[in-house]
Amino acid sequence: MKVYDKLFIGGEWVRPSGTGTIDVINPTTEEVAGRVPDATEADVDKAVAAARQAFDAGPWPHMTPVERAAILTKVSAALQGEMQGMAELISTEMGSPVAWASMAQVFAPTMILDYYVGLAASYQFDEVRQGLMGEVLVAKEPVGVVAAISPWNVPLFIAAAKLAPSLVAGCTVVFKPAPETPLDAFRLAELFVEAGLPEGVLSVVPAGREVGEHLVRHPGINKVSFTGSTVAGKKIGAICGEQLKRFSLELGGKSAAILLDDVDVAATLPMLLPNALMNNGEACIAQTRILAPRDRYQEVVDALVESVSAMKVGDPLDPSVEVGPLVAERQRDRVEGYIKLGQEEGAKVATGGGRPAGIDKGWFVEPTVFVDVDNSMRIAQEEIFGPVLAVIPYDGDDADAVAIANDSSYGLCGSVWTGDPERGLAVARSVRTGTYMLNSPIPIDFSTPFGGYKESGIGREFGPDGLELFLEKKSINLPAGFTPTL
Ligand code: NAD
Repeated sequence: MKVYDKLFIGGEWVRPSGTGTIDVINPTTEEVAGRVPDATEADVDKAVAAARQAFDAGPWPHMTPVERAAILTKVSAALQGEMQGMAELISTEMGSPVAWASMAQVFAPTMILDYYVGLAASYQFDEVRQGLMGEVLVAKEPVGVVAAISPWNVPLFIAAAKLAPSLVAGCTVVFKPAPETPLDAFRLAELFVEAGLPEGVLSVVPAGREVGEHLVRHPGINKVSFTGSTVAGKKIGAICGEQLKRFSLELGGKSAAILLDDVDVAATLPMLLPNALMNNGEACIAQTRILAPRDRYQEVVDALVESVSAMKVGDPLDPSVEVGPLVAERQRDRVEGYIKLGQEEGAKVATGGGRPAGIDKGWFVEPTVFVDVDNSMRIAQEEIFGPVLAVIPYDGDDADAVAIANDSSYGLCGSVWTGDPERGLAVARSVRTGTYMLNSPIPIDFSTPFGGYKESGIGREFGPDGLELFLEKKSINLPAGFTPTL
């Protein structure tokens, strides 16, 4: 069992101001797997003060982006050296199947760090533009002290998505991980110390939502970078709006996979299913609505049921397991509540729907496929965040499928599967989401923008866009005949 009795504040391990602790419960064994201090508002105040001091008076914002990125290179290399151990730690915190976790929860974060190391060297932080009345230096400067707030489902991935661009930009950061997954965040803090991150630049304060809200409201914070539920995102956006704080929000999703009438079902499912049920269905980009043409509906359902019922459920530390337990008992209650609700709404369970046989510990739910789903049902509209798919038939042409896909308050991701990529591209352009997969198994490329339309968020992470979330632009009008050294 991993126990920390200190918080990481201002680049040092310091005693917490309170006595509260957070127990990390292993969702497979239901036993305590770790313990960390529960940060208080006073701890957050200290962390913000340290970040403020490091931003206002420290060397960090004045170092070159490439100098700052050198720290990220070291952290990425260290993570690559402990990929398996880190994947097992995250699996133990939240139940992610370890084979998937080592790729998506650890290797992907190293790709994100490495991408921003490369961008630090090529991005134009300063540019001289020919203005209407003379030359203008457009300088892109760090936005200031950042509050980074993350959920538990892909904790290190989200940490990398926020820390890599904000640190390259020259910001200082107070990072509040979710209370379910503080252990990987503290390990990351240790790696930043070993990499030589200067004092004050990073703090890690695990805590719940009240203390999180204190961090958001804190006058020392210039920018809030939030990933989590739409409900919390609306609250945080409202606070930031009132204070005119910069903010970006990566929120929930209910993405639709559209199978066109010429789809090759056998070729599609091996690409689609890992994106539909990834991370036990606890993924914002999960393709949980599967739209199939009415005259091929039964064929799609049969193939899905065959594949989903064959998925191996069990201990997520077993590398052959495809579906592990849900993060917490309350999450299993929530998912089981939706399975009951779907049946009450008139949908039918074609496979799954219960708890897996032969497993008497852990918060498991069988991977479940609902058929005869109408898009107006709550199981088609609301984010379940568990291994539950809704197969929805559509009549008519591609436009009818697009209309169903767009009939959602969310707009995060989606996919289209067809023998005709031109037709698929027309569909991709018509669906109101921020990321799309056209006959592709890849939902996110870290060099291009990722984020939500509608209630799935505001702003774009990854790519240069993700760096610009942490920059302010300043225009300096230059006198004639003066060329600044950039
Ligand atoms: P959550 O909103 O309950 O919590 C997320 C984080 O915000 C936690 O650290 C929590 O303590 C904190 N928090 C909650 N309310 C807060 C408030 N009012 N002020 C400050 N902090 C607050 O979400 P969750 O259950 O941890 O995560 C699941 C959600 O995250 C899902 O909706 C999922 O779709 C979403 N998500 C989105 C993305 C994306 O990139 N769009 C990625 C991963 C997860």
